[in-house]
Amino acid sequence: MATCHQKRCPECKRKFSYANAQQHPWLPFCSERCKVIDLGRWFNGEYAVVEDLTKGHDLKDKVDLDDPDVRDAMDQL
Ligand SMILES: [Zn+2]
Repeated sequence: MATCHQKRCPECKRKFSYANAQQHPWLPFCSERCKVIDLGRWFNGEYAVVEDLTKGHDLKDKVDLDDPDVRDAMDQL
């Protein structure tokens, strides 16, 4: 029986499931689209300029670093 993990996408807040990290390389996001959106924010400096002042937004606060699949995905960034 295949393992099925459930997560909530930090970008669009939708719940999604995946079988394993190898088949879901855009973790911790639900899709490649959300990953690109989030990385685009970083490159544009939006987090540093805008969100830092309001919420102290940080990617490390948004993802579950205790999850080995998430850590694998972060290492691949
Ligand atoms: Zn998403």
